[in-house]
Amino acid sequence: MSQNIIYLDNNATTRVDEKVVEAMLPYFTEEYGNPSSIYDLAHVANTAVRKSREIIKDFLGANDAKEIIFTSCGSESASTAIKGTIELNRAKKHLITTKVEHPCVLNLHKELEKQGYKVDYIGVDSNGDLDITELISKVDKDTALVSVMYANNETGAIFPVEEIAQKVKEINPETKIFVDAVQAAGKIPINVKDTKIDFMGISAHKFHGPKGIGALYVKSGTMVAPLIIGGHQEKGKRAGTENVPYIVGMAKAAELAMENMEDELTRVKCLRDTLEEEILSKIKNARLNSTSKNRVPNTTNIGFLYIEGELILLHLNDAGICASSGSACTSGSLEPSHVLRAMGVPFTSLHGSIRFSLSRYTTEEDINYVVQELPHIIDKLAKISPFQKELGEILNK
Ligand code: PLP
Repeated sequence: MSQNIIYLDNNATTRVDEKVVEAMLPYFTEEYGNPSSIYDLAHVANTAVRKSREIIKDFLGANDAKEIIFTSCGSESASTAIKGTIELNRAKKHLITTKVEHPCVLNLHKELEKQGYKVDYIGVDSNGDLDITELISKVDKDTALVSVMYANNETGAIFPVEEIAQKVKEINPETKIFVDAVQAAGKIPINVKDTKIDFMGISAHKFHGPKGIGALYVKSGTMVAPLIIGGHQEKGKRAGTENVPYIVGMAKAAELAMENMEDELTRVKCLRDTLEEEILSKIKNARLNSTSKNRVPNTTNIGFLYIEGELILLHLNDAGICASSGSACTSGSLEPSHVLRAMGVPFTSLHGSIRFSLSRYTTEEDINYVVQELPHIIDKLAKISPFQKELGEILNK
């Protein structure tokens, strides 16, 4: 099935690296001990978890492996940081986040508003860059937590999280900072050690590791209440027997991501730029949405004026190409992307926006194929668009 697939949806999930699978396998049927038990079999599992924690510490540039706790996914990491902070600071009722967070952060804040929290949602400009001045102006003595993503999943825009953390702490040193680094980890170098960031979440399936495993960095000295209560695992911050094979898999994926970082920053970026330039030059009604100067190297987001994104995706699928639209299908209605709406992307291209996200598996042939197929698809769909007059004005220019 995957033989002839051109996979350009790596911000949704990635192919697991064979070396990751190989590293995980012994921990299912041979080294299957519970890391908390005392016999030798368990000791092997315990050692594997300890080594994995060291690797994730290096991956995030943390000070100490004790600052890393394993979770089941990026969403759990976010919930732990956010709920675990406010539970310990019940008197403080003010939270700050952005309008373009992933639903695991955004929807949690909407829930917290119902519980009486005041939430400030900070906007972005037309490039997808965050309004830091606005964010900083909202911090006061009642602010319990600021949650800001490192890189946006739809546009790839990178937010200056270190600077934000520094400025927030200058106003209120008590305010905690959570950074959702799910789309940054493995794509750009991360060094949390010298920052004022308290929490940072990652998820293995976004960097060629398995689904269902993530991690949360918790700065030494920062308190967090556990989301899952039970045993003493993860120093009491997350109960439940450690998922040893998946922890090992995530660590291997992190190791490989560190080795491949240069490729990501050069070759993958070059392929992404070529894809973008070719599409914009070949297709007259294409407009670049992801215009931030500071972007992760693998992501582009392009709007096709007056054409329906879901139809583009279906035609791409028929051509063996996987990509993603900026819109999510909610309860039968096509809801345009909250990220693109926050950027003020005009209605005319909002519904026809497509995200292409590359990876180290993407080849020049893949990009050439997409560049060859896409103009035909857009051409075909332009002919059946209900906006013939408007399209005609652009296409006949
Ligand atoms: N944060 C961001 C920015 C994401 O893109 C995603 C997944 O798409 C998540 C969090 C959630 O990660 P997970 O699927 O591991 O829960």
